[in-house]
Amino acid sequence: YKNNHLLSQLSVAGDPDKIFATRPGLPDVSYRDLFAGAERMAATLAGLGVTPGDRVAVQVPKSIEAIQLYLGTVMAGGVFLPLNTAYTGAELAYFFGDATPAVIVCDPARLGEITPLSGQASVLTLSGGGSGTLTDASNAQPSGFISVSRDLDDLAAILYTSGTTGRSKGAMLSHNNLSSNSATLRDYWKFTPDDVLIHALPIFHTHGLFVATNVALLAGASVHFLPGFDADAIIAAMPTSTSLMGVPTFYTRLLDHPGLTPEATQNMRLFISGSAPLLVETHERWEASTGHRILERYGMTETNMSTSNPYDAERRAGTVGFPLPGIELRVMQDGLELPQGNIGVLEVRGPNVFQGYWQMPEKTAEELRPDGWFITGDQGFIDNLGYVTIVGREKDMVISGGFNVYPKEVENLIDDIEGVKESAVIGVPHPDFGEAVVAVIVRTNECLTAGHIAAVLNDNIARYKQPKSIQFLSELPRNTMGKVQKKALREQYKNLFV
Ligand code: ATP
Ligand code: MG
Repeated sequence: YKNNHLLSQLSVAGDPDKIFATRPGLPDVSYRDLFAGAERMAATLAGLGVTPGDRVAVQVPKSIEAIQLYLGTVMAGGVFLPLNTAYTGAELAYFFGDATPAVIVCDPARLGEITPLSGQASVLTLSGGGSGTLTDASNAQPSGFISVSRDLDDLAAILYTSGTTGRSKGAMLSHNNLSSNSATLRDYWKFTPDDVLIHALPIFHTHGLFVATNVALLAGASVHFLPGFDADAIIAAMPTSTSLMGVPTFYTRLLDHPGLTPEATQNMRLFISGSAPLLVETHERWEASTGHRILERYGMTETNMSTSNPYDAERRAGTVGFPLPGIELRVMQDGLELPQGNIGVLEVRGPNVFQGYWQMPEKTAEELRPDGWFITGDQGFIDNLGYVTIVGREKDMVISGGFNVYPKEVENLIDDIEGVKESAVIGVPHPDFGEAVVAVIVRTNECLTAGHIAAVLNDNIARYKQPKSIQFLSELPRNTMGKVQKKALREQYKNLFV
């Protein structure tokens, strides 16, 4: 695949005879099998008329065949476009209309619903078990597909953002965006052919698709390929694994499992967390239970990974570590770079930064500066040792009576109160203050009162930061990546004061 930049990188390290993936109840997949299958899929796609730049939209359950479809799409010169399996027909209609794919691959169970939405696209199916019309068509193709020539700056994928703050945007990612970041992460986190990664993340998001899969491939490592999060299966896999990549909810749920012990994690060398903030408390409990310090990193769909805690030096709880090698990061306000220690909006520049939003030139111009700096919309600061801390998103910052309130500061104080499981601080419309601070809290102790929480906060923070209302919920709304859906909370409580 020498003429195809990303494929040439992803295929170089894995020994063909080596096992790439083990799967519960299914045969092992060697590197040879993986790429031979990808070649057959590439031949199928090319046969359907996929030419360089064509989008292949994919909403399928997790399987190795879906990974082969990703590789096969890139091999055929196409642009891989994975979609969250939770998306409804109405949501898919938007994505298909926006991306105008040449081919759509869906779960056979949803074929009837998706066919009418497909426009000009050819529609094929692929089930979680790896069967479907795509597999049938590909099995009839020979392996040995000659890869389509693609260069560093050609598009390899369009990934839609999670839609946490508004409508999802399609981030255009080039071959070099993906390969450069994966190579950096492999080296930074010291992945080698000896590694066995527990792969339990979904593969429609940058975390499971690019961070986990690409890093394993680039290192020539193996994966325990699990269909999804399952605490029993993850703990059972640990003695034959070296590493786990997870979202914070993976770690909190594993902490509830009686099998999580220092012995169970003895063979593991690395636990990585990202996609949403990891609580300091989770970091500390994990270390107490296993002896391992979780390595937290920060990234987004548009930038791949931008910062990471160090492998060898101190992994600081509550921080996302340092800008990765070759990636610049600065803290900005009103067009000026802020001195160390001040909170502002993070901007990132480097080979990781995307090519722009698909068919949204205005949005691209707003967020991607002509000199390459990408305005992330995340707020944070850099401490005296250079560690970056994320305090939240610009869109989640509350402005009450003209004062900025950073939700994270208030959430941290609330989370430290005995009897609190977790919290989300939001702003809702208020006739006098513009916005009022509201705390939404999940308790572990039902006797904990709003009065007690208010009293603790009153002792610790200025009045304008204190919640004007405290609400209790049995759980916070989260998406599949463990991100708290503050948009939904703002909607739920929008009429508290008006
Ligand atoms: P949208 O852009 O559509 O509103 P989204 O930003 O949630 O959705 P993603 O690209 O999946 O979509 O998520 C990136 C965001 O996730 C980052 O901008 C940041 O807010 C958050 N994030 C990722 N890793 C971390 C982390 N370690 N700590 C805190 N936040 C994180
Ligand atoms: Mg975003």
